Amino acid sequence: MGSEIALELKKVTKKFKGTNVISEMDLKIKNGEFLVLLGPSGCGKSTTLRMMAGLEKPSDGQIMIAGKDSQKISSVERNIAMVFQDYALYPNMTVYQNLEYALKIHKVEKEERKRRLEKILETLNLAAYRDRLPGQLSGGQKQRVALGRGMAKKSSIFLLDEPLSNIDVQLREKARDEIQNLHEKNQQTIVYVTHDQLEAMALGDRIAIINEGKIQMIDTPDNIYNHPANLFVAQFVGTPQ
Ligand code: ADP
Ligand code: MG
Repeated sequence: MGSEIALELKKVTKKFKGTNVISEMDLKIKNGEFLVLLGPSGCGKSTTLRMMAGLEKPSDGQIMIAGKDSQKISSVERNIAMVFQDYALYPNMTVYQNLEYALKIHKVEKEERKRRLEKILETLNLAAYRDRLPGQLSGGQKQRVALGRGMAKKSSIFLLDEPLSNIDVQLREKARDEIQNLHEKNQQTIVYVTHDQLEAMALGDRIAIINEGKIQMIDTPDNIYNHPANLFVAQFVGTPQ
């Protein structure tokens, strides 16, 4: 029987050069939940996501994945995909190879790889760029490759760091729908970082509002908007005063 909590932060603190960037953060994310981390630039969203992915170690506290200490499990057991804010594409691989790489590592069969990737290339309007290298792409195109690469993995936990920020408005809605489709179809647990209130409201089952490394409020979009816990939350989500 699987644990009901997909991901848990227990009093997680992260310091850089002696300064707290995240302070004693507690957070429980349920299996299949779509959680949005919303907050201003510099509040610690990317750092939180990177710790969840196991790319940064907490200075203090613990991160649990499906009930196990994340420091003590392998990356296969962790089964996490992440879309990075700065794309982090492999510069010497084509678009197609970038999308395919993690699937090869995870031993997804060739036919299945092709099936998943053709769909992603089409959904994200990338088919025409499949043989290009990242250096030959615009920022928005690179961001779509980064997003597609995360989608292709169909991991149990999917972490997305501002994945739509550079994508054109028309395609943004399509990409957003596709993220929601994947979430529903594969029952993925999603942690989605944004500084955009409207995007957060549209996507999240719950939203955690973060300021200066602390969760100010965590609740449904409706409760956050209508019953903000404090002035920061009210101002950030634009609740009429
Ligand atoms: P956000 O994603 O919410 O914009 P970040 O998590 O990127 O915020 O950063 C939070 C704070 O931590 C910022 O003040 C940032 O400058 C600092 N920071 C992030 N990464 C590092 C690092 N590797 N070394 C030093 N400071 C860092
Ligand atoms: Mg960030």
